Amino acid sequence: MNEILQNIAAALGPRGLVTAETDMAPYLEESRGLYHGRARAVVLPASTGEVAAVLALCHEQRVGVVPQGGNTGRCGGAAPAPDGREILLNLKRLNRIRTVDPLDYTLTADAGCILADVQAAARGAGRFFPLSLGAEGSCQLGGCLATNAGGTNVLRYGNARELTLGLEVVLPDGRVWNGLNALRKNNTGYDLRDLFIGAEGTLGVITAAVMKLYPEPADIQTAFVALRDLDAALELLALARGMSGDAVTTFELMSRRALEFAVRHVPGCRDPFDTAHEWYVLLVLAGTEPDAGMSARLQRLLESAWERGLAADAALAASEGQAQDFRRLREGVVEAQPLEGGSIKHDVSVPVSRVPELIRRADARVTELVPGIRPCAFGHVGDGNIHYNLSQPVSMDREEFLALWERLNHEVHDIVAALGGAFSAEHGVGRLKVGEMARYKSPVELDLMQRVKRAIDPRGIMNPGKVLPE
Ligand SMILES: Cc1cc2nc3c(=O)[nH]c(=O)nc-3n(C[C@H](O)[C@H](O)[C@H](O)COP(=O)(O)OP(=O)(O)OC[C@H]3O[C@@H](n4cnc5c(N)ncnc54)[C@H](O)[C@@H]3O)c2cc1C
Repeated sequence: MNEILQNIAAALGPRGLVTAETDMAPYLEESRGLYHGRARAVVLPASTGEVAAVLALCHEQRVGVVPQGGNTGRCGGAAPAPDGREILLNLKRLNRIRTVDPLDYTLTADAGCILADVQAAARGAGRFFPLSLGAEGSCQLGGCLATNAGGTNVLRYGNARELTLGLEVVLPDGRVWNGLNALRKNNTGYDLRDLFIGAEGTLGVITAAVMKLYPEPADIQTAFVALRDLDAALELLALARGMSGDAVTTFELMSRRALEFAVRHVPGCRDPFDTAHEWYVLLVLAGTEPDAGMSARLQRLLESAWERGLAADAALAASEGQAQDFRRLREGVVEAQPLEGGSIKHDVSVPVSRVPELIRRADARVTELVPGIRPCAFGHVGDGNIHYNLSQPVSMDREEFLALWERLNHEVHDIVAALGGAFSAEHGVGRLKVGEMARYKSPVELDLMQRVKRAIDPRGIMNPGKVLPE
């Protein structure tokens, strides 16, 4: 074992260092199979002090460090380089809920806490932590902050950035920045917190955070609505926000093809309607009083949507089981799409009002380029974040289709850019989209980001090769 690993072993103890190839393997594979990294070692610190000790040693020796949470990011952000020279630092042992303060409506937790455990801790104190997404059973709080995750409740509560009050971060040289305050207002200089959120581990390791809590929803009503057409989604969203007293927590768009994929491949998914429709939304209203009248509001909303010709059909969940079935349809798309062959994905965002235009323009362009291609669009209309995924034509060879990856990415991202959007709005940039940073960010923006990187990480040890072009 070389010197740096001996020093890490001395600082972390035997449970903190993994060097056997077979034991490291699970940390080095990404679930989509796009990246197979190698590492000198996987380190598993159990405290902020241990993270600081590892970073100080790596800084001294100029060894690259790749932070990793639940490894659900799927864009190579948590994957080490293939040369095997970096250290992978997984936060899973840093997993204490530090405090829950129901009066302050805050929760302070270690970065390695699983997101579902954070939600449960808030619930245990009679409060609600709204960050919720498909990977919540395995992604970590720190990973969600590093990627500024959103999820199904963004419309009402905001994404990870908006839910964060304070952070604790270990800097690349091993110093600890304790910004763990619970202040709702703090006008004392530059906002360092917002620099680390969304930085994908390129500026430091987030070790803990103070998160906002909310009153727990007690009256939740769910509907699955078939739309007149794509444009009706925007009108329905605006109507729903107005008629519900802004109680819309979820507004998820699904195309017919997305629904068909889920119904075909995912056990328990079935079409709620007898006739096929081109577009659907999963709509959830939530109030915090046990009888907030959400059922009546949803009923009135859907009647109004029907009268205005926005809804072609609608199904209201009569029980929690039925609500789960509707949610399962939306979540099932992610599971189902890979079973339809080669898939090229885009997690983009545009201003909410441009979502229909994005889908129409991109559909026309990709169909012109690849006749028979099967666009499968779904996502969070409320924040303009759409998964614009492309499944291969049925008769096309998978590899031939996947060879078009970059070309199709550029075609879709060019349309997104023309509509004032962002080429990445969910999984992050990681390694996968570094080229897109160079293509779509202005020279001024890139220059500022590179200067910030150099100021905080002058030796370039934090997550090398991720987010920023060299
Ligand atoms: C099924 C599924 C559904 C999803 N749904 C949504 C969604 O609805 N909305 C959305 O926005 N995203 C969604 N995502 C993406 C999601 O944002 C990320 O998967 C998740 O936030 C990453 O958390 P993680 O702990 O797995 O991080 P990882 O994948 O391990 O890491 C992600 C990045 O963060 C860095 N990182 C991890 N931990 C730290 C830390 N403590 N300090 C500094 N850097 C760190 C890593 O280096 C890497 O660059 C989904 C992903 C999946 C698989």
